[in-house]
Amino acid sequence: MFKSAKIKLTAWYLLIIMTVSISFSAVMYTGVSAITKRALDNQRLRIERRIMDMEMYRPTPRIALFVDEGALIEVRERTLGILFVINLFIFVIAGGMGYILAGLTLKPIEDMLIKQRRFISDAAHELKTPITAMKTDMEVTLRDKEPTVDKQRISLKNAIEETDKLNLFVNNLLKKSRYELGNHQSEPEILDFASIVAEVIKTMSPLAKQKNIALEDSIEKINVKARESELNELVMNLIDNSIKYSNENGIVKIKVITQGKNVVLTVQDNGIGISEKDLKNIFEPFYKVDKSRTKTKANGYGLGLAIVKDIVNSNHGSIDISSKINEGTTFTVILPIVSESTQVSLSKQI
Ligand code: ATP
Ligand code: MG
Repeated sequence: MFKSAKIKLTAWYLLIIMTVSISFSAVMYTGVSAITKRALDNQRLRIERRIMDMEMYRPTPRIALFVDEGALIEVRERTLGILFVINLFIFVIAGGMGYILAGLTLKPIEDMLIKQRRFISDAAHELKTPITAMKTDMEVTLRDKEPTVDKQRISLKNAIEETDKLNLFVNNLLKKSRYELGNHQSEPEILDFASIVAEVIKTMSPLAKQKNIALEDSIEKINVKARESELNELVMNLIDNSIKYSNENGIVKIKVITQGKNVVLTVQDNGIGISEKDLKNIFEPFYKVDKSRTKTKANGYGLGLAIVKDIVNSNHGSIDISSKINEGTTFTVILPIVSESTQVSLSKQI
């Protein structure tokens, strides 16, 4: 599909370039013909005047003083030949360059389309798993001629669990598409970043306790201009991952500091780490590191970091990750803080 589009685009490029080139050549040809004709006419006039002058003194036979009419035709033919070669040259060069240029123009569109197709197929795959599990479980219960109440209860409980998973997945998908499209439900406001992080830590504490993971924080008080839901989502995803991908008795360190005009959030764990090969794809939607290697019961959808990346981008920030297998992972998020003037007006309000 993209090959034919590339050829079509090249043809359009060529059509435009050749129209300009041939029009220019036509003007050149007409100009050269006119100039040559005028030069020959002048020459003829000069010769005739000279002959008339000479005849005044003594009659002169019409000697071999003549203008070569063939010269005009020759000039025209030569000009035509040169212009033809130039146009042929332009056609070949523009064709080649146009083809390369068309490829470069279409590449981002092609990449986006491939990404979109992969996204749809991954999403369908994630949806299929709970639906299949639910269907199988229900079929087994139905086939049972006299299912006990307990059996029916278990079947219903399983169905509810799978529905919850589906619900969570669909919510995450919606979040992802909303952040990606910049479809915001609120305007950015001045927020106390420290208290948002502290609140998320409080929410995540029970999860950390289950694995006896210590959440250590060192948080500077700082205001940022952003959307609260986005900051919550960002911090929550990073801390959730640090807990999920750490072994029992681990330590997760959360730090917030000011650095010039930015606020820097680091979430560091001493968990299972990520290999260099996986680091490259970690922000891709649905990307999950091989489960057998992680040996964790974590069953996420691989959307958390893709959402984090979208949030960071929409806030004109950056995210960096450093990791070593079996040593741990550190995520560093840099976000612009509020401008000085906003800080002043905020402190006045307080
Ligand atoms: P979700 O966040 O959608 O519930 P998830 O946690 O699997 O699912 P991401 O948060 O996008 O998805 O993370 C992608 C993958 O990166 C994870 O599956 C995990 O393998 C790896 N990963 C992320 N954070 C860490 C971490 N702190 N330590 C080790 N591996 C990590
Ligand atoms: Mg996650």
